[in-house]
Amino acid sequence: MRLKGMRKRDKPTGPWWKRALKSVGRMLIIFVVIVGGIYWWNPQRLHYPPRKPPSPFPKIDPDSAKLYSNGTRITVVVGHPDDAEYFISGFLCKLHDSGAKIHLIVVTDGDKSYYPPGFTNVEENRKVRHEEQIKASQGYGADVEFLGGPDGRYNPDEPQLRRKLEDAMVASKPDYLLCFDSEFLPVVQHRDHENSGRAALELAPKTSAKWVLLFASTAKNFYADTDKYWSQRSELIAVHASQFSGEKLALIRGTLMEREMNDGAESGLNMAEGFRAIKLHD
Ligand SMILES: [Zn+2]
Repeated sequence: MRLKGMRKRDKPTGPWWKRALKSVGRMLIIFVVIVGGIYWWNPQRLHYPPRKPPSPFPKIDPDSAKLYSNGTRITVVVGHPDDAEYFISGFLCKLHDSGAKIHLIVVTDGDKSYYPPGFTNVEENRKVRHEEQIKASQGYGADVEFLGGPDGRYNPDEPQLRRKLEDAMVASKPDYLLCFDSEFLPVVQHRDHENSGRAALELAPKTSAKWVLLFASTAKNFYADTDKYWSQRSELIAVHASQFSGEKLALIRGTLMEREMNDGAESGLNMAEGFRAIKLHD
């Protein structure tokens, strides 16, 4: 029965399988547009399948006597405030203990400026994240330099940003350069991590650095024993309270502890942080 005023719908025509195919096609287009749009906007990138490490890939000693000696100059290049604490703070604490002079270069402010207007307070984020980074890096005695690149959209090939990074790296006169591995990447990596690492590695030969130690790498050939530093590392992560607190902080601590134990198991240690070490020159 049809109620008064109700429009009679046209009866669909054609075989049932053609109609089904059409509606599946429509749903697929909507799915691709939505998921593709989210992927395009978000700053994480997929690297699948991951690139295999070279085989064989023997361990290497990046001149440990020099690395862990008083006055050794370490320059760290990262994408955001919190990267240094998240990825390598056990190693940085160890270096600080042995008397290293650490300079931390943070290429973006971590201000989330790639969010649509009104979704986040960029100025406030920048202020809070600067403060957190400065406080955290006091834990391993580092000077911090912010280069102010756009969070989530850091393009190291943009001439002004490139020059800024080169000047900062050269001026810090490193013996060792630490940055993200942009060649042997985990399946998911933030584009600012990858891009800052690529630029730092490309610029490394212009600096005084003899070694580059690449972190967040899937091809590790050097492991720093960080067993003694877990509690310090754990506290440093919590300094970034705007990013990690409550359950999220507990979850992150668990993830990082597991990672350090895995790196430890790979190297015959209890806990370790693994790197891909590259020698630039003698
Ligand atoms: Zn980051």
